[in-house]
Amino acid sequence: MTEVIRPDICVIGGGSGGLSVAAAAAAFGVSVVLIESGKMGGDCLNYGCVPSKAIIAAGKAASTMRHADKFGIKSVEPEVNFKKVHDHIHSVIGAIAPNDSVERFTALGVKVIEAHGKFIDKDTVVAGDYEIKARRFVVATGSSAFVPPIPGLDKVEYLTNETLFDQTRRPAHLIVIGGGPIGIEMAQAHRRLGSEVTVIEGFKALGKDDPELAEVVLRNVRADGVQIMEGAKVVEVAQKTKTTVKVTVETEDGNKDVVGSHILVATGRAANINGLDLEKAGIKFERAGIKVSNALRTSNKRVYAIGDVAGGFQFTHVAGYHAGLVVQSILFRLPGKENRDIIPWATYTDPELAHVGLNEEAARKQNGDVTILRWPYAENDRAQAERKTEGLVKIITNKKGRILGASIAGHGAGEMINVFSLAVSQKMKVQDLRGYIAPYPTMTEISKRAATSFSAPMTRKPFVRRIIGFLRMFG
Ligand SMILES: Cc1cc2nc3c(=O)[nH]c(=O)nc-3n(C[C@H](O)[C@H](O)[C@H](O)COP(=O)(O)OP(=O)(O)OC[C@H]3O[C@@H](n4cnc5c(N)ncnc54)[C@H](O)[C@@H]3O)c2cc1C
Repeated sequence: MTEVIRPDICVIGGGSGGLSVAAAAAAFGVSVVLIESGKMGGDCLNYGCVPSKAIIAAGKAASTMRHADKFGIKSVEPEVNFKKVHDHIHSVIGAIAPNDSVERFTALGVKVIEAHGKFIDKDTVVAGDYEIKARRFVVATGSSAFVPPIPGLDKVEYLTNETLFDQTRRPAHLIVIGGGPIGIEMAQAHRRLGSEVTVIEGFKALGKDDPELAEVVLRNVRADGVQIMEGAKVVEVAQKTKTTVKVTVETEDGNKDVVGSHILVATGRAANINGLDLEKAGIKFERAGIKVSNALRTSNKRVYAIGDVAGGFQFTHVAGYHAGLVVQSILFRLPGKENRDIIPWATYTDPELAHVGLNEEAARKQNGDVTILRWPYAENDRAQAERKTEGLVKIITNKKGRILGASIAGHGAGEMINVFSLAVSQKMKVQDLRGYIAPYPTMTEISKRAATSFSAPMTRKPFVRRIIGFLRMFG
């Protein structure tokens, strides 16, 4: 028997975005129904950010052992037990899972329905034994790996982010199709854990980032032993032997075969819109996802869409940002607009790559005359002590010094970008970064030095920086 319920808010999808809406709304005493058809926590916890960062951490530990000699400690080739790496990944997920669990959300006052949800008309969703007629709906169904129609791919076994972290045996040779952030992160981690790795990228690896900074990262990933083929299009995939697959790649120099043991498909994401019957609710969508206004409203005024399914930047912090805007709008009728210009992102390779605001090209287009400030890690004392001297901070300002964007390639870039996220969101100037004191020795000083060089153009010249460094040695 179907039970009809009438909550204030019905959220479809219990991942980063949906859980944030449900928790915040429940905290204000609003009645909330949350529908989840898979695992609570969604992609980020189960198949995305968390397991990927856990395997990256394992790869880093292996790499540290391999390169300890630079600290005067004998380097050793680590013995990697892949089953235990798998267990490490899943124990990290397990440690976080209670925060996202049905039990916790039920205790918060949320009614959790563990079923598939779909619209049957403009103001009704069905899930399991329930018909939900909510005042407002929030679609937060996320995205899944986009699998391109490559001939032969459907006839071999391949991995996606949903199956990669279930591997208990090390792939002998992992072929990663796609050189975006997910592909490159996973390529480096697996290489460091002992797999042979080949990345096949149709255009330019890490192509959405500043090429100057992406190159720093790619150089290091290659130095770890990852083969990265760029401008290489996969034209066919076939099973070669019982344990090997053959990937045929079209390159400038003709077709080449890459033979490996496993394939990871990392060619982008597809919004989870199938099975929602969006048409029945009058919700417009396209291939990239549900069409939303900048207030995240769909073509059905009762329904919002947030996170990956809304087709913009696909990151957990964006889903969280969207959740905040939507809660504000539903609960307090405060119209909030998504500002994509302040959204940062980071790729957790070693070294890391992070960005916020406008890149150089976009800044020049919008502002004409811009100033580019750079400061290398190599000129930072802490970076020298840690032997993390690869990389640079790059700041883009307008003529008056307003920070339009920043990119960082280097150790801890994902942490270091925070100060620029604040600067860009608050429309700060480089002069503002001069006014605070960074503890010595920290790598954040690199950002401050880059900012300071705005008013001392001579210090941007390498030979002047060498003299300054020399003078500093004598106090
Ligand atoms: C390998 C990998 C690494 C990543 N690393 C990072 C990172 O380091 N940092 C970062 O910010 N982002 C990262 N991301 C992206 C991040 O995981 C997503 O942006 C984030 O999970 C999006 O949140 P969401 O709420 O939109 O969707 P999700 O978290 O995917 O949640 C959607 C939920 O909806 C459920 N659902 C779908 N359809 C229905 C339905 N009809 N009925 C009921 N339930 C439904 C699904 O089961 C799922 O649980 C990574 C992604 C991947 C794949």
